[in-house]
Amino acid sequence: MIRAAGVNKFFGDLHVLKDINIEVPRGQVVVVLGPSGSGKSTLCRAINRLEPINSGEIAVDGKPLPAEGKALAALRADVGMVFQSFNLFAHKSIVENVMLAPVKVRKLSSAEARKNAMELLDRVGIANQAQKYPAQLSGGQQQRAAIARALAMKPKVMLFDEPTSALDPEMVQEVLDTMTGLAADGMTMLVVTHEMGFARRAAHRVVFMSDGEIVEDATPDDFFTKPKSDRAKDFLGKIL
Ligand code: ATP
Ligand code: MG
Repeated sequence: MIRAAGVNKFFGDLHVLKDINIEVPRGQVVVVLGPSGSGKSTLCRAINRLEPINSGEIAVDGKPLPAEGKALAALRADVGMVFQSFNLFAHKSIVENVMLAPVKVRKLSSAEARKNAMELLDRVGIANQAQKYPAQLSGGQQQRAAIARALAMKPKVMLFDEPTSALDPEMVQEVLDTMTGLAADGMTMLVVTHEMGFARRAAHRVVFMSDGEIVEDATPDDFFTKPKSDRAKDFLGKIL
């Protein structure tokens, strides 16, 4: 569903993605781990074409990533993205945040978009917050609203870049539970996270990045119990 082959990315002289090959088959959850600066966010942004790449190929649902124009807009609509910061529109209510893109991009009627939005807010457990503004919600509720907003476009894949790292500890679990539910429903997901519990429970595979390279690509069980590389051992030694 997501396939990157031979992807290289430079920021000036800095080689931040080094011959990256990764596949996320339909319905699978791949967790990306790695130290700060290893290129995890850049990889997410490259998959969504928020960041141009220097060489290689990235395809979503078998379609190569177009560089620009309508085809790119259509592809972006197939890829939902959730960031560390929630990026909700402050002057719109929660339900309006979720309705916005379906009305603008998918040309849904307002009534239809509102109905879908309420169903999604119910699914992420915050239907009772629909009429509030983002600032009136807790961080965990805002992040669940951001997930609902991404889902409103009916994406084929979801990218998560450290969706819980800006949250107070007591709110992390509700967001992880929402993500676990999505995974159980068969969503194809690429998740950058430091939540090892989630990686162990929800991931089909763990990809470990270090210094712009994919160093390991293994089942969670193998990665956590018998990492092969010194870099992965070192990383696990610091976080576990
Ligand atoms: P973290 O865990 O801290 O979020 P990361 O693995 O997501 O780290 P990236 O944000 O992908 O790492 O950054 C990879 C490398 O690219 C880092 O050395 C970073 O400083 C550099 N980098 C990222 N964005 C830019 C940019 N816009 N211009 C120049 N260098 C950048
Ligand atoms: Mg990052």
